[in-house]
Amino acid sequence: MFRKILIANRGEIALRIIWACKELGIKTVAVHSDVDIDSLHVRFADENICIGPAPSRDSYLKITNLIAAAEISNADAIHPGYGFLSESAEFAQVCEACNIAFIGPSPQTIALMGNKAEAKRTMKAARVPVLPGSDGPVPTAAEAKALAAGMGYPVILKASAGGGGKGMRVVRSEGELDTAFQMAGAEATSAFGNGDLYLEKYLEEPRHIEVQILGDKHGNIIHLFERECSIQRRHQKLIEEAPSPALSAMQRSELGHTAVKGAAAVNYFTAGTMEFLYDKGKFYFMEMNTRIQVEHPVTENITNIDLVKAQIMAAAGEKMTYRQKDLKIAGHSMECRINAEDPIRFTPSPGKITTFSIPGGPGVRVDTAAYAGYFVSPHYDSLIAKLIVRGHTRADCIMRMKRSLESFVVEGIKTNIPMHLRIMDDEDFKAGNLSTKFMERYQA
Ligand code: ADP
Repeated sequence: MFRKILIANRGEIALRIIWACKELGIKTVAVHSDVDIDSLHVRFADENICIGPAPSRDSYLKITNLIAAAEISNADAIHPGYGFLSESAEFAQVCEACNIAFIGPSPQTIALMGNKAEAKRTMKAARVPVLPGSDGPVPTAAEAKALAAGMGYPVILKASAGGGGKGMRVVRSEGELDTAFQMAGAEATSAFGNGDLYLEKYLEEPRHIEVQILGDKHGNIIHLFERECSIQRRHQKLIEEAPSPALSAMQRSELGHTAVKGAAAVNYFTAGTMEFLYDKGKFYFMEMNTRIQVEHPVTENITNIDLVKAQIMAAAGEKMTYRQKDLKIAGHSMECRINAEDPIRFTPSPGKITTFSIPGGPGVRVDTAAYAGYFVSPHYDSLIAKLIVRGHTRADCIMRMKRSLESFVVEGIKTNIPMHLRIMDDEDFKAGNLSTKFMERYQA
């Protein structure tokens, strides 16, 4: 097992990793930008090192500074969390070259799954269903047009190097294709330094359903069932739950089996997520996230497996003790992402939190690094807390989420708590009629 882990992240996920390390008896090193000096991850880690100024590119994204911090503190592993460098093949490669264990997949797997056009091709070859579309990147708008004509509109252009919903354009007719191709390409180039686009059939009202994968370095791969993440705004998830209210036991087992098959095709040996779109009874692979996800707690709640501990143990080469046939779903779980933003206009609301009083009681978990007096910096993402509940049924979760949201008091900044409260009262939401279009309709 590792002696000391450096956490190359901040906020709630850095704390979440510290809690796991403490329970495993592993020392921790926090890194922070200069504005994050008063953060809880800095306070609760055994050691801390400043890695640069506020802008992420000069601190949390700066590989040389992170490696120097790991060497100075004599850490034997790095946990990248989510976001920042968690899906950087280069970072994983440099860690490997410096003899520091990277808690994630191999640099080769990260690179392969990070190129979404290649990932799709790989999954198709492994007989995982994918949406009809281009086989790899489409070089020109003319070729995209020819393909789309054969497939029928609407189609969607997506960045091969994509993430966070950037570089995506829905195209509804041939007349729109040239402009969309140019704009998506330019957006992809500026966001990822790679303008490659691929094309696929666009589904009007799919559900986003993903499968949690866990592997080890001894060839074992299991799935921990699915999460439904259809409540999104601009392709960013807002509410996640497990299990999905849409699946029968048979579909669930089929989907899990398919996800494991896909992960096995890339010799996956850690925690990861296979994302699918679900439409009219069919699943289509969309992408694989090769890291721990924001919404992992809902899976922890229904399986009683600590995913971060499992991920660390797998990275240390330990053999997994879970067997697929022993896993069962216990109840239901739901997560609301509490963001520092205007609940109606969705604009960021950075600033100092003056009151921060979190809900508790049976079945409630709050993952957060915020506190009264904490300053929400405009430099980083707006997630300030994850409110996670569990219950016997989905209806129990909704009631529990409502009472928890009502007693979650945040003052000094605006949050989207009022939006979540309204969603909990929405008839479609309560009935489980979800799709990625939910928020558009809801906002209208
Ligand atoms: P990113 O990595 O940028 O988050 P994804 O490929 O995961 O991009 O897609 C994000 C979201 O975009 C999905 O959850 C879904 O809402 C929407 N989306 C992506 N591809 C399609 C498609 N072919 N049809 C309909 N919606 C799609």
